[in-house]
Amino acid sequence: MAEKQVILRIKRQQSPKEAARWEEFALPWRPSMNVIICLRDIAENPVTRDGKKTTPIAYDSNCLEEICGSCAMLINGKARMACSALVDQLEQPIRIEPMTKFPVVRDLAVDRQFMFESLKRVKAWIPIDGTYDLGEGPRLSPEEQEKAYPLSNCITCGCCLEVCPQVNEHSKFMGAAIFSQVRLFNMHPTGAMHAKERLQASMGNGGIEDCANSQNCVVACPKGIPLTESLAEVQRAAWKQALLGWLIG
Ligand code: SF4
Repeated sequence: MAEKQVILRIKRQQSPKEAARWEEFALPWRPSMNVIICLRDIAENPVTRDGKKTTPIAYDSNCLEEICGSCAMLINGKARMACSALVDQLEQPIRIEPMTKFPVVRDLAVDRQFMFESLKRVKAWIPIDGTYDLGEGPRLSPEEQEKAYPLSNCITCGCCLEVCPQVNEHSKFMGAAIFSQVRLFNMHPTGAMHAKERLQASMGNGGIEDCANSQNCVVACPKGIPLTESLAEVQRAAWKQALLGWLIG
């Protein structure tokens, strides 16, 4: 009986300046294979389906359990994590491409620096001096913890930016993940001390007002983060702050 195979079509790009091309691979099927395992198998023996020697595929991955966010890519046209993309649940040939909203470094590896710069812009952290013991932080009620925990699950994978029509070459829209972090840190009793600064940084070029409410983000998020709630909440708070500023002068 013929050996069961996994067929993959992978978009390759040697460097940011070079043109992309497709290569096809056929791998022996094993139970419980995911896309990262396929990419590793190719790295062990980088030969295309038609027998040509090639180079291993470049891609990012680390934790292999949807925690690090690094292996996000387009799999059969869908932005998702490669580590949780099980081969047996995918239509073949499995089409694998780099995400399109971030510059390609090589093959499937992209540069998500834009997200990290945006997190810096909105001060998505709680500033702590660190030179002396601050003691225990304020207590959070179970209700507050329940609201904050899902937001803290963001893995900066970029899937929500990939599917957002407002994130494109003509816009600097920071994307849902960033505003969700603004919401998270503004709802924390210590983080709230810098809420005004975060809201200010969330407005203007690329800010919350550029959201067009497509709601694609919340569908694509692999961590089930309530992104549309975050967008609406930050939008309300930002408008309120802007209006108050305008009235007070
Ligand atoms: Fe990824 Fe969800 Fe975070 Fe967006 S909000 S970066 S989709 S985990």
